[in-house]
Amino acid sequence: EMNLKYVSSGKAKDIYENSSETLLFEFTDRVTAFDGKKKSDYNEKGEITCKIAEYWFNIMENNNIPTHYIECPTSTSMIVKRLDIIPVEVIWRNYVAGSFLRRYEAGEIKLPEGVGTEEGSPIHGGMIEFTTKFEAVDRPINTDEIISNGWLSEKEITYITDLTQRINDIMSQELAASGIILADFKVEYGRKPDGEIILADEVGTPDGCRFWKKDEFDEGAIISLDKDVFRKSIGDLTVAYRELFNKLQKNNK
Ligand code: 5GP
Repeated sequence: EMNLKYVSSGKAKDIYENSSETLLFEFTDRVTAFDGKKKSDYNEKGEITCKIAEYWFNIMENNNIPTHYIECPTSTSMIVKRLDIIPVEVIWRNYVAGSFLRRYEAGEIKLPEGVGTEEGSPIHGGMIEFTTKFEAVDRPINTDEIISNGWLSEKEITYITDLTQRINDIMSQELAASGIILADFKVEYGRKPDGEIILADEVGTPDGCRFWKKDEFDEGAIISLDKDVFRKSIGDLTVAYRELFNKLQKNNK
């Protein structure tokens, strides 16, 4: 990969050109939060995150969710199909947390009917949100703005909403068997040259999901196995990520 042409860097991944139709993602040990204002490095973070992404991509493919995933040639790298990335981050929420709670507390949004006002309040049936991807600060956008910007058609928004709900159902079910609650997650989509919209970036990693231990949650405590450990400075991120991965693997043996 040292000879590959560098393309760009995300928060945690470096991207290289692998062929005219594929890219190579190198998962690094970097972690950032709060739109890059908080940064660090954790040993082995890249390797664990890559393995978790690989784990979920295989499950998605087995469940007929179309993805850009091809293979992992090393323990920290992944080959994916080149796509035209849709500049929208798609968030699915099953519980109140993170920016959703913050925006509510700041008076910027109302919560859906019947949803409680604390971190951990369930959102029955779940809900979808969209934020901008290529702006300095992720900003919630509504579907009218997505359509008027020409990013997605109404039909495509319906398709993506359905796919994201299916991804939620698949992950929530797998995680439940490991004693983990999927509180929320972010996914991205892209278009293949033939126009098909497929799942891009990474899925199911603790960088882009909130995972809570179910036993503790049922006792009223939120114990995170995701990037909130770093955001809130409440432990060693690698330890939390490894615990998550071990729980997933144990369930599949
Ligand atoms: P929130 O909007 O509450 O900050 O995030 C909701 C969910 O989406 C969380 O699981 C969070 O980790 C994920 N998420 C939101 N924005 C980003 C982002 O820019 N990158 C990644 N990897 N995940 C994000």
